[in-house]
Amino acid sequence: MRAAVLRDFAQPIAVEEIETPEPGPGEVLIRVHACGVCHSDLHLAKGDWASLKRITKMPLVLGHEVAGTIAKIGPDAGGAGFAPGDRVGVPWLHWTCGECEYCLEGREVLWGRQEITGVTVDGGYAEFLCAKASHVARIPAGVSFEEAAPLFCAGLTVYRALKSAGLAAGQRVAVFGVGGLGHLAIQIIKASGAMPIAVDITDDKLALARQLGAGEVIHGATGDLRKQMRGLGGAHIVMVTSASKAAYESAFACVRKGSTLAVLGMPPEAVPVSMVALVSGEIRIVASAVGTREDLRELLELAASGAVRCQYAPVPLENAAVALERLRDGTVSGRIVLINQRAGQQ
Ligand code: ZN
Repeated sequence: MRAAVLRDFAQPIAVEEIETPEPGPGEVLIRVHACGVCHSDLHLAKGDWASLKRITKMPLVLGHEVAGTIAKIGPDAGGAGFAPGDRVGVPWLHWTCGECEYCLEGREVLWGRQEITGVTVDGGYAEFLCAKASHVARIPAGVSFEEAAPLFCAGLTVYRALKSAGLAAGQRVAVFGVGGLGHLAIQIIKASGAMPIAVDITDDKLALARQLGAGEVIHGATGDLRKQMRGLGGAHIVMVTSASKAAYESAFACVRKGSTLAVLGMPPEAVPVSMVALVSGEIRIVASAVGTREDLRELLELAASGAVRCQYAPVPLENAAVALERLRDGTVSGRIVLINQRAGQQ
């Protein structure tokens, strides 16, 4: 099969011919139709996270936002009820034990020895990949592979963050950064009956935010952001999807008393926070490291209703390295999705 393989942090990923994997016990083989390109892939490809305890597999096929069809059922994988041809997706969370304290509490994303798609095992920048039948989710009818793929990380991460932050109808929710995550967050907020307020430093992205249902849009680099936010009555939830320290500093300045800051974007440097401001304002901070299988099912249901539609830019699998560069440049509206053209339309 063809796959974009990471062999060296100093070199761009390159498409080559490698062995098509065979599904092991409990696994299914999936023919990839579309795979989203996530900021995590950029970090992994550059070696930013190579010093972490869980070293990435090497060589590695990146990609943890996979949408495709079941090609083959491995031994002991029939229990999940999949049949060849079924439309499914594979998330970041490749496998969890289901037996430890975190898994039993329904917080499986926190288990320290989890397997991660496109990190500890090969992912979806390829024509095929293997996944655990227990952690694969069905893609609802009416949602294309390209629209579905980014839901498996970008969508799931913001969905869980908003759920943890206590998203409710009638609230004002500020979203800093209208990229792959932010543009999905705006739709989820709107679907819940709350009002999204988009903050970005790019006019194109603010226009997209408007189009997706943002009640207000604010240019982060011009004017007095804090004053504008106060004029709107402040936000009940402030979500930061941008990985810039400046975005966090602005977000902290805009947080309303009693509100919740949802942390998603990861600037490489530390962001200083005033404990006085946190205490006097009774500010809550929540963070989201993707989501559980339950969160994923809820999000896919929302997508099936038509309330959440990913805006994507298709790029052929052959150009995976170029896709990563475009993501690094920060010029992408919505999500870049790699297309396996050999899979055809289904
Ligand atoms: Zn991701």
